[in-house]
Amino acid sequence: ASRWSHYIKEKKVGEGTYAVVYSGWAIPTPAQKLEHELATDDTGERDEVARDKKILTGVALVCEPDGRRKIAIKKFKIGEYKDGMDKSAIREVKVLQELKHPNVIELIDVFSYKTNLNAVLEFLDCDLEVIIKNKNVAFSAADIKSWMLMTLRGVRHCHANFILHRDLKPNNLLLSKDGELKLGDFGMARDYGDPHRKMTSMVVTRWYRSPELLLGAVRYGYAVDMWAVGCIFAELMLRVPFMPGDSDIGQLQTIFRALGTPTEADWPGMKYLPDYHAFEQFPRNPLRNLFTAASPDALALMESMLLYDPLKRPTAHDALNHFYFRNQPRPTPPAKLPRDV
Ligand code: ADP
Repeated sequence: ASRWSHYIKEKKVGEGTYAVVYSGWAIPTPAQKLEHELATDDTGERDEVARDKKILTGVALVCEPDGRRKIAIKKFKIGEYKDGMDKSAIREVKVLQELKHPNVIELIDVFSYKTNLNAVLEFLDCDLEVIIKNKNVAFSAADIKSWMLMTLRGVRHCHANFILHRDLKPNNLLLSKDGELKLGDFGMARDYGDPHRKMTSMVVTRWYRSPELLLGAVRYGYAVDMWAVGCIFAELMLRVPFMPGDSDIGQLQTIFRALGTPTEADWPGMKYLPDYHAFEQFPRNPLRNLFTAASPDALALMESMLLYDPLKRPTAHDALNHFYFRNQPRPTPPAKLPRDV
């Protein structure tokens, strides 16, 4: 049974490649409204019950005082586009149904109306790109650690469920009002249950695309997401994209210029990739020269995620166990993270 009696559409807030997004409200059922009132009633003897309920349902925390919840309705234009578009809409919904985690955008409901598929999502109108670009927002090493922690927890959850996100970038790391970071936009996500199955390499926004994808690999895995996380980590420290190639061809050059052209020892197997050819040789560049303010542990973790050989990159689980996350400074609690101003 749903908590919500119905949804109210408010206004159009965005338009993606194959969907229109509206803001709106989820209106609670009478039972849910009562539960919400109990959960948010902080007076008298109901106190203890209230606290338990809040923790149990979690929902009270994200609702308005009257029990409504702000939502985004993503309307997929089924049938209006090529078959591929329909598939990615259904894939996104399927993936989100499987992934329930504090660091993954919540799919609240799905319904169809006329010929459209509608996904009801939690409303998240800020993202890490906005924060990085806004020069009025200052942030610290502890803030970066907190965002990295939440990103990697979301990614670990995806990978543990055999799902690759395949389009991680600051714009898809959404931020809630209470500072929680959540992976969003699973339009490119897919199952990687069978590591030998061939998949397209035309994924991931160019600047965050791993070298194996750029070399046309059709068998790839979690390491493509880890590369993207490495790029995001670097961007958080630099406050500009780390390797902004100006074309798909140029992207590989941009990477080689930044990190040095890989040798056979760096990446055995590179020469067997479909688009491999003789590359211009760039010298290895110590990242320390560019990331002058980074702590040694931060730099070590970032470097490991940007290793050429996908097999040498850490898993999200490995990364979360890195000493970077145990050392000072402690990650900033989400509620205290800087917000867009
Ligand atoms: P894309 O641009 O990657 O195709 P979407 O189709 O997911 O993105 O969304 C288009 C736009 O709608 C986004 O850029 C954003 O402004 C808005 N939007 C999407 N999802 C949400 C959400 N959950 N909460 C608030 N706004 C959203």
